[in-house]
Amino acid sequence: MTTKIETILDRAMCGYDLSPEEGVILLKQNNPDAIALIRNTADQLRLSQAGSTVTYVVNRNINFTNICEQHCSFCAFRRDQGEPGAYWLDSAEILSKATNGVERGATEICMQGGLNLQAKLNGKSLPYYLRLLETINQKFPDLHLHAFSPQEVQFIAREDDLSYAEVIAALRDAGVDSMPGTAAEVLDDDVRRILCPEKINTATWLEIVSTAHQLGVPTTSTMLSGHIETPEQQMQHLNELRSLQQTALNRSYPAKITEFILLPFVGQEAPKPLRRRVGRDQPVLADALLLTAVARIFLGRWIPNHQPSWVKLGLDGATQALTWGCNDIGGTLMEEHITTMAGAKGGTCMEVETLQAAISCLNRPYQQRDTLYRPLEARMQNAKC
Ligand code: SF4
Repeated sequence: MTTKIETILDRAMCGYDLSPEEGVILLKQNNPDAIALIRNTADQLRLSQAGSTVTYVVNRNINFTNICEQHCSFCAFRRDQGEPGAYWLDSAEILSKATNGVERGATEICMQGGLNLQAKLNGKSLPYYLRLLETINQKFPDLHLHAFSPQEVQFIAREDDLSYAEVIAALRDAGVDSMPGTAAEVLDDDVRRILCPEKINTATWLEIVSTAHQLGVPTTSTMLSGHIETPEQQMQHLNELRSLQQTALNRSYPAKITEFILLPFVGQEAPKPLRRRVGRDQPVLADALLLTAVARIFLGRWIPNHQPSWVKLGLDGATQALTWGCNDIGGTLMEEHITTMAGAKGGTCMEVETLQAAISCLNRPYQQRDTLYRPLEARMQNAKC
């Protein structure tokens, strides 16, 4: 078996794209020697595709409401209107959070929320979302607004009877600089029927993200792993992302996918049926690291930036992921509700110095970046471990 693994990994090192079937073979390894080879290949490819520097972004999350019409089976964040814990931030609260972010050095606001049917202006959804952007943009025109998932785009389009292109163009013109590639979960409709039956299906997610690229709006890409999905479905997901990026690059779209983020499932506070089915509350680090490595090997030629989630894995787990193919440690966030309400132990805020120290422990240099992976300081810094 090791010989077969070596052949697959040699081909990857020579710059060939692996097939999803080859990816499945890698994911099914449990021999420590084979796993060490996979990790080593991912680490070497990370070095050649993204360099030795580990990047981070200073950003602030704003989840403007947790009132949501949907009932995803993994979601501990959503509430019905009027239910204990339901919230909906007004413009003053949003501005105050953005101001706090700027005072703490944020270059990016990441804004997403539940699908709140009441969130309308004059009976329309799009003007409400435009006002959210305007609230921040008027005071902080230089802040990068990373906002609204493909699911939110579809929600606005449905409520206002608009096309996806009309919604994305309006959001872009009002200040959206890039879109989170969230709501992807696993891009397999059998999984989606169980995980998020009311969400957009795989084809719609891909259509909306591709439309964003065509309209000049870069996106990230994500995967919610470690619940009910099989290795075959994991590779199908990565294959969809790779094809999407190949389309953007081959057709010279004005924007593309900027990064891949693995989001291992945290079930502690998730609704009981899925929690019971998955059978554990916290991610299995070994599984997340192997998938991190395979994602680098499979996607890295097309999507060179890979980020672990310190919220899901904890900072120690995320730091380990930097030796399994990741080149970025993510953002400071400053406030995180969605995963923390699901029972994640990684925390809600990370100081820059803490991220720098974690990176320094690996003897790798660090560099602050903006959302689009442009370096923000010419000089590398050093922090004590
Ligand atoms: S994951 Fe998003 S869409 Fe699904 S229930 Fe939670 S807030 Fe709503």
